[in-house]
Amino acid sequence: MRKPIIVGNWKMNKTIKEAVEFIDAVDPCCHDGATYGVATSFLALNDSIKHAKNLIVAAENCHFEDNGAFTGEVSVPMLEEIGVKYCIIGHSERRTMFGDTDETVNKKAKRLIAAGITPIVCLGETEAQFDAGETEQVIRSQISGSLADMCPKCVADIVIAYEPIWAIGTGKSATKEIAQNCCHIVRDQVRVMYGDEAADKVRIQYGGSVKPENIAEYMAMEDIDGALIGGASLKADSFKEIIEKTR
Ligand code: PGA
Repeated sequence: MRKPIIVGNWKMNKTIKEAVEFIDAVDPCCHDGATYGVATSFLALNDSIKHAKNLIVAAENCHFEDNGAFTGEVSVPMLEEIGVKYCIIGHSERRTMFGDTDETVNKKAKRLIAAGITPIVCLGETEAQFDAGETEQVIRSQISGSLADMCPKCVADIVIAYEPIWAIGTGKSATKEIAQNCCHIVRDQVRVMYGDEAADKVRIQYGGSVKPENIAEYMAMEDIDGALIGGASLKADSFKEIIEKTR
């Protein structure tokens, strides 16, 4: 039985004060129906972790090297020191704007796992790839690269977020059938690479214009074990509604 995981991805939003206010308001609403969490800016992580009793607090990126001449970057030991337990890697915005590739995502995933931090590995096709019927091929290739050379037990414990780029921040969410089909392909590719145990255990989120109105229909699908939510995670009331609808 996979416990669903629903994470708000705040991106470059919320000051420390705003993050803490949100957490104080939303944290008491969490229940055992799922694991709930928020991904904050690096700056807000420390205070958010101190305020969160039930919510998990995730970083939105990391570097794969432990230290060195990488101006502006944050390493895994730095996250580890303040008690970060989850970290988003390979979000499409990082891939398109900041040069993340399957290869760097793979290095980041391995470094996080070595530190006992759960990676939330993001992937998904562009609109042009979707229109050209290349979705399955793109998903399989991104999984092959991002999750290359890892141990099956480690893969079983990670979270994968399938997020079609055409659905992110557009209001144009994938139908529940498309989302299920793609999450099934993700799981199947994990099965091909790492066997049944890893495939049956790995948690797969759908992301892309998830909101209180559609969360329940995604959660009812067999291969969807939660969601990564951008816009609809920014307001406490909207996130509370999502928590309530997944009870
Ligand atoms: P969205 O973003 O919910 O605003 O579409 C999702 C994401 O980028 O993870």
